Amino acid sequence: MQSDRKYDIAVIYGDGIGPEVCAATVEVLKAATGAKQPLNFIEYPGGAGAYLKTGKALPDETYAGCLNADAILHGAAGLPNAVYADGTEVGMDFGLVLRAKLDLYANIRYSKLYPGTTSHLRYAKPGDIDYVVLRENVEGLYASRGGGVVLRDVAATDTLVVTREGTERIARMAFELARKRNGAPADGKRRVTVCDKANVLRSYAFFRKVCAGVAKEYPDVEVEYTYVDALSAFLVTRPSHYDVIVAENMFGDIISDLAAATVGGLGISPTAELGDTRGYFQAAHGSAPDIAGQGIANPLGTILSGVLMLEWLSEKHGDAYLAQVAGKIRNVIEKLLADGAVLTRDLGGTATTKEVTNAICSALK
Ligand code: NAD
Repeated sequence: MQSDRKYDIAVIYGDGIGPEVCAATVEVLKAATGAKQPLNFIEYPGGAGAYLKTGKALPDETYAGCLNADAILHGAAGLPNAVYADGTEVGMDFGLVLRAKLDLYANIRYSKLYPGTTSHLRYAKPGDIDYVVLRENVEGLYASRGGGVVLRDVAATDTLVVTREGTERIARMAFELARKRNGAPADGKRRVTVCDKANVLRSYAFFRKVCAGVAKEYPDVEVEYTYVDALSAFLVTRPSHYDVIVAENMFGDIISDLAAATVGGLGISPTAELGDTRGYFQAAHGSAPDIAGQGIANPLGTILSGVLMLEWLSEKHGDAYLAQVAGKIRNVIEKLLADGAVLTRDLGGTATTKEVTNAICSALK
């Protein structure tokens, strides 16, 4: 049954390839939802381009629009040359401020090796890699953004922040997520891997201790603790072992890009950033200025983020129609990938952004 509910989606196209992959996603979502069109897309400015025009990467009207929307869809933000006097990028104030203000504490990044795609790992086959990196999204080292100190141009510091409340909620989400999944590809075990550097810093030892406390509530899920340096090697040598990995903000940022590279690249990896009531969706990649404007960006990461948005809205509002549409898009993408029909240059093919979008839209019809 198709529900009659309409959803406002705040769309921020952003910088670089952001507008290209975001437009592709809106087109696919419109094609998939047919005549009824339950999604009402409302465009807002944001990112480095918006900063250069208005002095704000997250303009007030954009923030108000995001607050009022049912969900937020984003292309990418950031231009490497648009920087503050301290050298940090202005564009980052779009996503980082939005995450903090909306308390989007969970950054969920999916890495799955689909049939038809090739891993950069020599031995990995489709089915071998299917795990989630759950990155704490509002604390950790990035909590210090704008608050670090540069002392007389001879030293600089940023403080890593780990709270009990922040760690408990991300750890709980990791175990809940593991319960819903089918376990690690290698052995089918539901497993949460806590990624930290507890051997060196108190903040990470505390992160581990708090996660261990939460783990006791989930005796049905295996828990293990791995230092981030070793984990980076294991994600290359035995990726099938992993199911759900929970990590502090910066570590999660880094290992999730490594994870993306093992399943084809940044262009295919989707992300959901969630709080208790709000959702923000974008691919794992950045604005890729090196390929912007050429029509060759892979839109699949953003389109799959749009699918995560439909699934999240469906669960939140009990709307079975949106889950059905999400499933339809997923199936179409998986089939087209398996047929080699939607492989962009980063995935070893020659398809353009437009060709991928058109192929998905025609298959949906
Ligand atoms: P990036 O992810 O933009 O690009 C890294 C490499 O991956 C580039 O070679 C790029 O061409 C390639 N790539 C990325 N997405 C692709 C896609 N969809 N299809 C094909 N190839 C793709 O990372 P970067 O170069 O380190 O950063 C560029 C800018 O993006 C910077 O301004 C950075 O701050 C910003 N950034 C933004 C976000 C975000 O908005 N969420 C995330 C990360 C980086």
